[in-house]
Amino acid sequence: MSYAQAVGETVRALRTIRRQWADLLLAIETPPAADHWPPRQLAHTMREGDDELLVEDRAPLVLREHPAPLNLSALDAGRAVERLLFDLADTLAAAVQRTEQGDPRGWLSRDPNAPDSRRTAGSRRHGLHWASVWVEGRVLDEDTAPEHELDGAISAPPFEVLPLHLLHEARRTAQIAEGRLLRTLRLDQRTTPVPDRPCPWCGGKLTLHTTPDGPPSVTCSTGNDCTAPVPLDSRGRRVWGWADLVALVGALAAAESIAA
Ligand SMILES: [Zn+2]
Repeated sequence: MSYAQAVGETVRALRTIRRQWADLLLAIETPPAADHWPPRQLAHTMREGDDELLVEDRAPLVLREHPAPLNLSALDAGRAVERLLFDLADTLAAAVQRTEQGDPRGWLSRDPNAPDSRRTAGSRRHGLHWASVWVEGRVLDEDTAPEHELDGAISAPPFEVLPLHLLHEARRTAQIAEGRLLRTLRLDQRTTPVPDRPCPWCGGKLTLHTTPDGPPSVTCSTGNDCTAPVPLDSRGRRVWGWADLVALVGALAAAESIAA
């Protein structure tokens, strides 16, 4: 693997984690669905508005109160992802950080001897999003050139270039954290039968397809004979892409209410 490839993969994993973090916070406060329908990305668009609240509340899970989390496995996964990124930031800071005290670009490790809980937590108190952005900056070797002061003097850069072994460590850790998050949200690459909900047009079996890099889709097992008003995929199955999924969710809900 080339240096540029390792940087690219690390940055991609870190950005996926940031993109999905609000969903994980929502998942903690939502009872786990028995049958994973409707797909999480759709549930997300149906609940527009909630996310902004959660994203604004950036306090790390480890410092929050969770009096009654509704989904313990999501909470466990969230804490594990935080721990991975916070510890990674500690490791990178110890190796390459040369910031002066008070420089907001600096990562502060936890300080058990600090006089109050805010300072004890160090930069962890800013939450996962900030930790992820900070790690990305080190992976991209930001702020590693000497800086010109106003008086013309040149000062040492706040960070050193990340050594290769730490780049690989960052890549490995970010990918482990990303994998844990995507599996918990069931957004990793997988196909899941949609149980108890036959195709509203032909009664065929529906299958949900998810992938971390794109929207979900649903296919019907019947093939060309299914009369659903959606295109066929490369394997000859009716497929509901992103734009058609809301209609499918609606048709299934209508079928269910008739059955009930
Ligand atoms: Zn069908």
